[in-house]
Amino acid sequence: MLDPLANIPRAKRGGTAPQTQKQDQMPRIVMKFGGTSVANLDRIRDVAQRVKREVDAGNQVAVVLSAMAGTTNQLVGWCQALAPLHDAREYDTVVATGEQVTTGLLAIALQEIGIEARSWQGWQIPIRTDNAHGKARILSIDGADLIARMGRRQVAVVSGFQGLAPDNRIATLGRGGSDTSAVALAAALKADRCDIYTDVDGIYTTDPRIVPQARKLAKISYEEMLELASVGAKVLQSRSVELAMNERVRVQVLSSFEDKPGTLVVDEDEIVEKEIVSGIAYARDEAKITLRRVADRPGIAATIFGKLAEENINVDMIVQNISADGTTDMTFTIGKTDLPRTHAALLAIREQVGWTDVLEDPNVAKISVVGVGMRSHAGVANTMFRALADKAINIQVISTSEIKVSVLIGAEYTELAVRALHTAYGLDAA
Ligand code: ASP
Ligand code: MG
Repeated sequence: MLDPLANIPRAKRGGTAPQTQKQDQMPRIVMKFGGTSVANLDRIRDVAQRVKREVDAGNQVAVVLSAMAGTTNQLVGWCQALAPLHDAREYDTVVATGEQVTTGLLAIALQEIGIEARSWQGWQIPIRTDNAHGKARILSIDGADLIARMGRRQVAVVSGFQGLAPDNRIATLGRGGSDTSAVALAAALKADRCDIYTDVDGIYTTDPRIVPQARKLAKISYEEMLELASVGAKVLQSRSVELAMNERVRVQVLSSFEDKPGTLVVDEDEIVEKEIVSGIAYARDEAKITLRRVADRPGIAATIFGKLAEENINVDMIVQNISADGTTDMTFTIGKTDLPRTHAALLAIREQVGWTDVLEDPNVAKISVVGVGMRSHAGVANTMFRALADKAINIQVISTSEIKVSVLIGAEYTELAVRALHTAYGLDAA
């Protein structure tokens, strides 16, 4: 068994230039197509033509597919309709079928235009996962057979989103998981690049629906992409970006409907001109909680956030202030959908923590500016605060990391803030 995620030496992974990686071989690429790109037979024929072009250009090609747009939702809905608390292993059996259909169809479409191809389900390769049915992680991929066949110019058409669990049953990777399948396969096959074809043509400086002057980035670093993915720009599944970063897989995000280069997601070293700020993201899915007059003594934060962790409630931003009278206010943010459970958890520890009131505000937005150039530049946060002040937008909570500054503001100011910041950091297209 070949463990792609462990035994590919760093230096040999996708991050190195293709020439040095495989001097004597044809370039090897993984092409991944999302649900809208395979939504009907005409689109599947278009995908076949794209694949043919790469094969004709002398590449060894593996393709990873999603289910047709809407299919997985329907399959999930059927499981839920029968039983809200259904057996996760049977859920996986059902929801993995969408990809089986598209891979078989694409193999047929490729054969029709003279390209040798075959479909592969996760269990056939196998793509081994852990036992966490419904949200499994890929543990290893045996790429040997695929590599041999690709060397003989056979195109491998692989089902995304699925693998084989230790219990010998089909497992799926969580919604959006075929991005992760593609990156993992690219690592296992030591591919030169993983092209993710989707319905957007790249990664933008911010959401173009809010800022029409947003620019498409030619390159973005893994770390920036992770920050942008987790704060609201939902182009790639976050886990796929983490994997690409760890395995040094070069990822390209590009449109399956147009012929133009997309955005390369690569190692920071590959980016010569480092932007101080590369992008502005927003998220409206958090809620703000304030606990009033919490006892100001050791162990209080541990009690509050320990309880939330126990309940599997993710906490994002946290602020606490000093106070003179032995109490303090504690403010933090959680996912909006966790509000009822958070409320219950806080009531359960009221005695221990001694809070007097709990204030809940779901009407907030988190705005983040992200850029690796921040590491070496001062004043980035200040530009943000000034730009928001000029628009009279009140900042409720601030948090920072090495390459990100985030603020929490009233949700009604989201668009105004994003536009102001896009201009303030000089990101508007000329
Ligand atoms: N078909 C799966 C989903 O809709 C996996 C994917 O498309 O990435 O979540
Ligand atoms: Mg997707």
